[in-house]
Amino acid sequence: MKYLCPNCRRVLYNRRLKNCGFCGAAIPEELRFTPQEIAVLDRERAVIEEFRQRRVIAEEAADGEFHDPKITPLFNL
Ligand SMILES: [Zn+2]
Repeated sequence: MKYLCPNCRRVLYNRRLKNCGFCGAAIPEELRFTPQEIAVLDRERAVIEEFRQRRVIAEEAADGEFHDPKITPLFNL
């Protein structure tokens, strides 16, 4: 489902915004993320970021020889 600005009908690329990024029209609440949804998104992003950092640490610890195909896919988020 695509969310469109009720004023200019363009896709809302950022549903955290209170106003359309193109025309500046106010975005109705039902088209925006709720604070709860934003909290979930932020948490997911934090988890992904943590995995990413762990992978960097693992690669550094392996001194560039961390290429076992059975292991690396676990870190490919
Ligand atoms: Zn608009």
